[in-house]
Amino acid sequence: MDIPNTMASIEPVKLTLDSKFKFKCHKGVKCFTKCCRGINIILTPYDIIRLKNRLKLSSEEFLAIYTEPQLLEKTDLPIITLKLLDDDSSDSKEKLCPFVRKDGCIIYEDRPTTCRYYPLGVASLSHKEGADDEGFYFFVHEAHCLGFEEDKEWTVREWRKDQGVDIHDEINASWTDLVVRKRSFPKNVMLTEQSKKMFFLVSYNIDKFKQFIFETSFLDRYKIDSETVEKIKEDEIARLEFGIKWLKSLLFKDASEDQFEINKKPEGKV
Ligand code: SF4
Ligand code: SF4
Repeated sequence: MDIPNTMASIEPVKLTLDSKFKFKCHKGVKCFTKCCRGINIILTPYDIIRLKNRLKLSSEEFLAIYTEPQLLEKTDLPIITLKLLDDDSSDSKEKLCPFVRKDGCIIYEDRPTTCRYYPLGVASLSHKEGADDEGFYFFVHEAHCLGFEEDKEWTVREWRKDQGVDIHDEINASWTDLVVRKRSFPKNVMLTEQSKKMFFLVSYNIDKFKQFIFETSFLDRYKIDSETVEKIKEDEIARLEFGIKWLKSLLFKDASEDQFEINKKPEGKV
């Protein structure tokens, strides 16, 4: 499928991996960094791991300094967005990403998934209608973005690979699946406050989740093999994947997650 090369003529359209579009972003464009203002950037679990490591912060510190919580539309799941800052250097009322400077993004190599996709959006992250079926991509319609006037052609598949977002998606896949599954629940099926806290802990606070595993009765309660225990101690990605499996076993009573066979329930412990 070919996509017209001007934003004005583009109707909202579901893009597939093979959809084509023309686009190039570089320091020479007149709109350079305009897309880093007035934006809503939902952070995925892997985004937070990359960013907190880049900034040499704990996940708890990163959450406190750079993010704000929201509730994900059509679910009662908490999500995290990047906290924007007032722009004291101009009269603009638009808030700024904390990582943007005149010459670009200071954390570019570790920029979040949403920034990598731009000027595309991904339905599963943006909770668009229909995302529960197969997932799809769409153009983020922003008139100030002049990258569409450039003459470089991509397929969505090529863009994802070029921007390294395919790796982000792969690591976040199980988490995204959990969110999409929860969204398909009837509205009256609500999570308990404890379940929401656990979702937040595993998804966004990977250092505190480590403490939860190793400094509470968690490992007494579940039969977890020693190889997994060693792996999740140091490897944050493995810990995240383990945590999502555990969440699925809790939230969906997922029979396939038999790793979480209950060992024993210590008196008075959750
Ligand atoms: S607005 Fe578009 S072209 Fe301009 S810097 Fe942002 S992504 Fe690049
Ligand atoms: S993280 Fe970087 S690319 Fe993303 S909005 Fe902020 S400055 Fe722009």
